[in-house]
Amino acid sequence: MRVAVGTAIIMGLMNGKMDSPPTTAHFLIGEGCDYSCAYCSSKDARIARIDWPEFPVEKVLASSFSGFGRVCLQLTSFGLEEAIGLIGEIPLPVSVTVRAEKKDDVRKLFSAGADRVCVPLDACTPEISEKVCRGGFVKQLELLEWAGKEFPGKIATHLIIGLGETERESVELLKKLKYSGVYAGLFAFTPAKGSPLEAMQKPHIGAYRRVQIARYLIMNGYVDFSYNSRGQLLRLPEVPGEVFMTSGCPDCNRPYFDGSPSKPYNYPRKPTEKERTLALGQAKLYEGQSIYKAQKLIKVKAEYSDKIERIKITGDFFIHPEEGLEEIEKKLVGCPVEKGEIMARIADCLTRFEAFGFDANSLTEAIMGAVA
Ligand code: SF4
Repeated sequence: MRVAVGTAIIMGLMNGKMDSPPTTAHFLIGEGCDYSCAYCSSKDARIARIDWPEFPVEKVLASSFSGFGRVCLQLTSFGLEEAIGLIGEIPLPVSVTVRAEKKDDVRKLFSAGADRVCVPLDACTPEISEKVCRGGFVKQLELLEWAGKEFPGKIATHLIIGLGETERESVELLKKLKYSGVYAGLFAFTPAKGSPLEAMQKPHIGAYRRVQIARYLIMNGYVDFSYNSRGQLLRLPEVPGEVFMTSGCPDCNRPYFDGSPSKPYNYPRKPTEKERTLALGQAKLYEGQSIYKAQKLIKVKAEYSDKIERIKITGDFFIHPEEGLEEIEKKLVGCPVEKGEIMARIADCLTRFEAFGFDANSLTEAIMGAVA
């Protein structure tokens, strides 16, 4: 049986130290996998960035489960029957993560004693699912909607944030899941070495924090959200620190599964007040891009809150001397997101540099396209 490396350490199956111990034991069931999810590297006993060393089943079952509140059996495309045989042998509540295809699969797992069944959608839209998980989104969602009603409070799903969906799309799906009685746990997309999505970026922390907050609000019955033109959430209220903890089944903290101790997406424990303040500040950070056609093309990439935090301006224009562009970018960092103020700073820079292909007005328009 394959055991997540953190679980193996806590069970005494191998040596190692952990900054934050897992409170759910994770076992991987099913040899090989034929799902070919683009975000997963299922080579060399490494699935989704985690090492899963193998141990004899009898040795695992005879080991100590103390320190855990739950066991999660994660099934590859194979392993349903093996999991069904194992559930009764485990001395803790068992969650099973399975891409079930039939209602009967879910029924069989509960009959065998599973406490929760998680059918991972992973993608937030059918189109993304088609691209990265070989589709099946609509059928899986139908199955979840049925199961949520049939086994209330016992059905979960996982959503990977950062596969190309907008915040509005994840919120709409979270609302649908809540309405169906399905509990959604969030993960941040994490590029796995050797996977087809190895080169893709992790989600912007601001986007992830806003979806965490929206998820919490939806779970508490809130449904009215406002968005900007890029589908990014606006005007979210302050929330408790627990909102930024790992979400999922009771006792599941998945320490740093998708982040690092210094840059966590999900806290495996209750965040301190300082961490909560940091997370709330991150939720106010936005990322925007624009392409604007002046005499020449201007491309802008910016990170902003109520002021510009970072900005990169490129394009096929010229500026003389060329250090002028860097000076404009420097002058814009810290600038309030206000058209008049942005234009004044650019115009001031252009008294010292000569621009070909844009002027203060067109560059301001390009920037406003990225930050408005
Ligand atoms: S939330 Fe945790 S315990 Fe529940 S199915 Fe997901 S990984 Fe397993």
